[in-house]
Amino acid sequence: MNSSNLTPIRVLLVEDSEYDAELIIKELKASWDVFYERVCTPEEMTQKLYAHDWDIILADYQMPRFSGPAALELLKKTGLDIPLIIVSGTVGEEIAVDALRAGAQDFIVKGHFIRLIPAVKRELSERVARQELRQVERQFRQSEERYRTLIEGLTQFAILIIDATGYIQTWNEGAQKILGYPPEEAIGMHCSFLYCPEDRDRSIHDQSLAIAVKMGQYHEEGWRLKKHGERFWAEITITPMFDDKAQLIGYSKIAIDRTQEREAQKALEESKDQAELANQKKSQFLANMSHELRTPLNSIIGYSEMILNNMVKSSEDLERYARNISVSGRHLLDIVNDMLDVSKIEAGKLEIHAQPVDLQKLVQELHDVLVMLANQKEIKIFWDVAPEVKTVEADPQRLRQILFNLMSNAIKFNRPGGKVMLNLCRSQDERWFQGEVTDTGIGIPRDKIDQLFSDFYQVDSSSSKSYDGTGLGLALTKRLLAVQGGDISVDSEEGKGSTFLFRLPIRRANPESA
Ligand code: ADP
Repeated sequence: MNSSNLTPIRVLLVEDSEYDAELIIKELKASWDVFYERVCTPEEMTQKLYAHDWDIILADYQMPRFSGPAALELLKKTGLDIPLIIVSGTVGEEIAVDALRAGAQDFIVKGHFIRLIPAVKRELSERVARQELRQVERQFRQSEERYRTLIEGLTQFAILIIDATGYIQTWNEGAQKILGYPPEEAIGMHCSFLYCPEDRDRSIHDQSLAIAVKMGQYHEEGWRLKKHGERFWAEITITPMFDDKAQLIGYSKIAIDRTQEREAQKALEESKDQAELANQKKSQFLANMSHELRTPLNSIIGYSEMILNNMVKSSEDLERYARNISVSGRHLLDIVNDMLDVSKIEAGKLEIHAQPVDLQKLVQELHDVLVMLANQKEIKIFWDVAPEVKTVEADPQRLRQILFNLMSNAIKFNRPGGKVMLNLCRSQDERWFQGEVTDTGIGIPRDKIDQLFSDFYQVDSSSSKSYDGTGLGLALTKRLLAVQGGDISVDSEEGKGSTFLFRLPIRRANPESA
C-alpha cells in the first residue's frame, strides 16, 4: 500500500531496545503513515513530550533507567491528553492490572501484536471523541459565560429564573439593585414574596405564570415590594421555559422599575387636569363677567336712550332714570375694581393706607348705599358699632370694600322680609377688631363651605342660577383681610342663614399723627 494514502500518526516510543522499536513501528506502518521518535530516559521523554503533538505513546514496561509506569506518571503530571499503551515482553497478569490501574490505556504483549493495531485505533478515536467533548464543553462554558456577563451587566433589569413551581433559582445584580436582596437571601424563596400582600392573597403570581404558559409570554405591570417594604411600580415580562420534551421547567422574569416614569406621568396628568380646571374656571368667569357687565351696561344704554329720545314724561322719571344710570355705572365700576384688586393682590402691589376711621360714619354711608337693594326685598338692616371701636386705625377704602361684600351678599342671598345684622366690636383678648355679618337667608351647604373663598366659586354656578354675581367677592375679601394680617370664617346652616366673622389686628394709631 502506498504510504502516502495512509493517515499520518505521531508516535512517541518509550523503548530502550531499538530492535523492539522497529518491530512495533513496522507493525504500525501497515495501517498508518508513521512518524516516531524513541526515548528511553525520563529526561529525554520530558524533552520530547512537547516537541510534537503526539497521537499516542507506546511504552515498554521495564527499561534499565526508566519504566512504563514511571512514563505514565510523568505524562500525568503534564496534564497532556495522550493515550499511553504499555507494550512489554514481561507477561504477568498482576503487572498488567497494575499498569491499567495506574492509567495506562492498554497492555500489549510484545510478539502479540495482533492486538496492537485495534488498541491504537480505539485509543485514537477515543482521543478524538474526548477532544470533541472538551471543545463542546469549552463552547458551552463560553456561551454560558457570555450570557452570564450579559445578564449581570444589565443592572437596570432584574432578571431571575424561577422553577416550574415558582421558586427562585437565579438572581442577577440588577435584581439585587432594584429589589435590595442579595442573591443568597432571594434564591430558594418563592417569587410571591416580592408581591404586595393584597396581590399575594389573590394569588396574582400564580395567575401570571399560568397566563405566560398559555400565551407563550406575559407582560404585566404592578406594585411590587423591595426589601424594606418600599413599593415600586414594576413592568415585568414572564417567559416560560420548556425542555426538549416540551415539559415546563421554569420561567424567566425580567422586571424594570418604572416608578419614576409612572409618577412623572401622574404628575403630568394632574397638572393637565389642573390646567383644564383652571381653564374651565376662567371660561366660567368670563361668561359670568360678560353677563355681569352686560346687565348694568344695558340699563345705562336703555335709560340714556330714553332720555335722548325724549321719552321722559316727568321730572320724577328723569330723576329715576338718571339715578338708575348712576347706580348701574357704579356697579360697573365695582366689578372692574374688584378685578383690578384681585390682580393687584396677586402681583403683590396692593398698598394699604391705614388711618383713623370713624366707623359709625362709614357704616352709615354703607347703609345708605345698601338700603335700596335691601328695600327691594323688604329686608331690614340692623347694625351695632361697639363704643370701643368708634374709631379704628384701618384703610377706609378696603374696610368699606370688605363690609360691602359681606353685607351685599347677606342681602342678595336672603329671603324677602329677612334680616341682616352687622356687629362691629373688639375681641375679648383685645387684640382684634372684629366684624360679624349675620343673615337669615338661604345658608350654605356644609360640604360647600371649604370652597367658598376660592376664586370664582359660587354654590350655584349653573346657567339658571337665581343670583347674579362673579364669585369673586369672598375671594377678594379673604385676600384683602390676609394682606392686612386678618382672617375670615363662616358659620352657616342651610335654609336658616349664615354668619361671616372677620378679624383685623388692632393697630395703634401713629402717636406722631395723633
Ligand atoms: P358672588 O356673590 O359674586 O357669587 P362671592 O364670592 O361673594 O361671589 O360669593 C361666593 C358664593 O358664596 C356665592 O355665589 C354664594 O353661593 C355663596 N354666598 C356668599 N355669601 C353668602 C350668604 N350670605 N348666604 C348664602 N350664600 C352665600
